[in-house]
Amino acid sequence: MSKRKREEGEMEPREFTNNFDAFSEEISKSWQQISEGFAGKLKAGISSLLPRMVEGLRQADDHDDSVYTGKTGIALLYLQLHTAFQQGDDLATSYQHLKAPLQRLRGRRHTFLCGDAGPLAVGAVVLSKLGRASESQACVDKLHDLHRAALDPGLPDELLYGRAGYLYALLYLKSRLPGVTIDDAVVERVYRCMIESGGTLSKREKSKSPLMYAWHEKNYVGAAHGMCGILCLLMQVTAPWAQQFLHSHIKPSVDYVTQLAFPSGNFPSSLGNSSDRLVHWCHGAPGAIHMLLQAHKVFGDSKYLEAARRCGVVIWERGLLRKGYGLCHGTAGNAYALLTLYQSTKDSKYLYQACKFAEWCLDYGKHGCRTPDRPFSLFEGMAGTIYFLADLLNPETAQFPALYI
Ligand SMILES: [Zn+2]
Repeated sequence: MSKRKREEGEMEPREFTNNFDAFSEEISKSWQQISEGFAGKLKAGISSLLPRMVEGLRQADDHDDSVYTGKTGIALLYLQLHTAFQQGDDLATSYQHLKAPLQRLRGRRHTFLCGDAGPLAVGAVVLSKLGRASESQACVDKLHDLHRAALDPGLPDELLYGRAGYLYALLYLKSRLPGVTIDDAVVERVYRCMIESGGTLSKREKSKSPLMYAWHEKNYVGAAHGMCGILCLLMQVTAPWAQQFLHSHIKPSVDYVTQLAFPSGNFPSSLGNSSDRLVHWCHGAPGAIHMLLQAHKVFGDSKYLEAARRCGVVIWERGLLRKGYGLCHGTAGNAYALLTLYQSTKDSKYLYQACKFAEWCLDYGKHGCRTPDRPFSLFEGMAGTIYFLADLLNPETAQFPALYI
């Protein structure tokens, strides 16, 4: 393809026009909660997508063990289905997908989404639910052992490949397996390491933000590689030793990110990038909104909620993505943003909007979207869409995976 052609190609709209009716008084009556009819639609959608996913996975890369695009992501989906429906053999199926990842831990990466911490954390939960306590404990022990690697000074701090991705796994286990002891000293060391690392880079770059982070020498802003994901996670640590950093380091850093918003309400993908293009969980408002809503919860300042509502506007307008239906850079991930906004505001407009995006996802494959590299995986493909549809059945408690503990 010629350079000119490629540039023209890049100017194609990244999203479909949102033709759903705007929220109105009339609509509000029927969207106070999810109706039985809509729940039925969601369940029918899940039942029709699941066999397509199973068929599609036969062609998938057999050596990808990650939560992000591999086998553990499928295990996490089945764990989610088990939680949502409490029937059938979803738990056993989840374990089937975990067997290989647990047998061939790579020892190379240690995050929840892309490394060994994913199979170990999900494995500990699934094995515990299956009544295999000693095997579950073995996973917890191995997860603890990864902390030395997570403290390596050469490591980034972001969610996919960095310390936040390891910290998430520890906190996930702490909340999902209350009976299991997670060494608080390990959590504290990793947390403090992230604060220190952010402080060091801030000083080096003479940043106005007390915490600054980079991945591949770029100051990313979004949830996957940047400050929004890191700060969203740090704010969820409620231990007494973490309190001192909340006002001195975290709040001013969140404030710094908040003021980076474009006039549209969207966020740049990295510092210095002035193009208001990407509206994805990984880059842009659908990831930033999680940091803002968490900040509102922790600090109570209404400016975060206002910024989150502005994210809601741009997500509703530009969130039906040509990239597909997935969580990371697809419509399901954007629907989660609207759903989380509903949980924080109790404004039924956002429940309606999340449900309309879900409806759009139910027409999977009919819009002419691009096919992602891993089309059936949890974070890029169909497994993530199914995960979201199942989560939407309980809109008050639904949570974007690998971000909330
Ligand atoms: Zn993405």
